[in-house]
Amino acid sequence: MTTPTISTLRCSCAASADANVDGFLECLKQDSSISSLVYTPTNPSYQSVLDFSVRNQRFLSNSTPKPLVIITPEYEHQIPHIINCAKQNQLQIRTRSGGNDFEGRSYASEVPFVIIDLLKLSEVTVDVQQKTAWLGAGATIGVLYYNIAIKSPRLAFPAGFTPTVGVGGHFSGGGWGVLVRKYGLSVDNIIDARIVDVNGKIHDRNSMGEDLFWAITGGGGSSFGVILAWKVRLVDVPERVTVFKINRDSEKNATQLIHRWQYVAPNFEEDLFLRVIATRITTSEGMMTIRATFNSVFLGGIDRLLAVMQEKFPELCLVREECTEMSWIQSILYNSDFPIDSHLNLCLTGFSMM
Ligand SMILES: Cc1cc2nc3c(=O)[nH]c(=O)nc-3n(C[C@H](O)[C@H](O)[C@H](O)COP(=O)(O)OP(=O)(O)OC[C@H]3O[C@@H](n4cnc5c(N)ncnc54)[C@H](O)[C@@H]3O)c2cc1C
Repeated sequence: MTTPTISTLRCSCAASADANVDGFLECLKQDSSISSLVYTPTNPSYQSVLDFSVRNQRFLSNSTPKPLVIITPEYEHQIPHIINCAKQNQLQIRTRSGGNDFEGRSYASEVPFVIIDLLKLSEVTVDVQQKTAWLGAGATIGVLYYNIAIKSPRLAFPAGFTPTVGVGGHFSGGGWGVLVRKYGLSVDNIIDARIVDVNGKIHDRNSMGEDLFWAITGGGGSSFGVILAWKVRLVDVPERVTVFKINRDSEKNATQLIHRWQYVAPNFEEDLFLRVIATRITTSEGMMTIRATFNSVFLGGIDRLLAVMQEKFPELCLVREECTEMSWIQSILYNSDFPIDSHLNLCLTGFSMM
């Protein structure tokens, strides 16, 4: 693969003490469409723009290194110019989509850096006939789910649980969620992408070549450039799915059930996703014990689910009253601990349950 990468830029910048923020800002002025999209620490909106997508609150502290400049491009064509200006002025680029990086790598760095924040490049276009969608890399998976759901209750996309997760980081790293058993990871369902390389050249899958496409669909995006957009293949889901979330504490054989689940779960039919989350709880007598929460999304109705569970995992003693049928998009909110009748608009907002 001959395409130069952003990591090349990162290395050279990290070694340089010549970062020139004034030169960078001067350079940006050559594209007048960018001027209203630039935030320096003296701008009253700088802090709120920075904090908006800092999802790990540890990094809201003053000791976290701050960007010299934040740019929120509105159009793809603005990004090559930003990259060239950063290169010329020895500034490292951090690219941010949903801001859910566990280590804050999309908005913090030890060397002088600027943020390209893609939150305005978040348009989602769903083609129900073709069962595809194009989405800007600044979109969240919640925005994607919402836009699919308002067009068709029978289509979905295999990605994560938390609607605030951004498709820029999520898709380039894999992306798994409740549809993983039937449809694989998000990256198994990406059919095209647009990316700006370190030389400011925009590529689609065809012009970037299969090596680079392979790298950005699992190897992380920021090592290779700024991903602008993804084209994804949508998948079929029934209009009603069945969900349950049940607790089994130690007096209800939690440990034995977790042990048994490890043997039966990999052999369930692909329509059945069943995960278990183990937590420590304190009983009313003040004793510490374990709680197993079994959480499922089944691509079918309650009757079929009960039959499958009776056959494959009778030890769980699942009963009808513990199950609820709902649309697939409602199951996303349900799994984020929202009430069953929550409005779908919640998928669009910046909420996070973590
Ligand atoms: C609350 C929470 C829930 C999660 N749930 C799941 C889950 O259910 N399933 C799962 O698989 N994972 C899950 N994750 C992990 C999540 O997929 C990763 O943390 C992912 O990288 C976040 O992407 P982001 O765009 O939100 O983050 P960001 O912080 O914006 O980006 C993460 C990384 O990707 C880079 N990047 C972002 N956008 C681009 C772009 N356009 N071009 C190039 N590089 C880019 C950033 O520079 C950074 O290095 C979860 C994480 C959190 C915090």
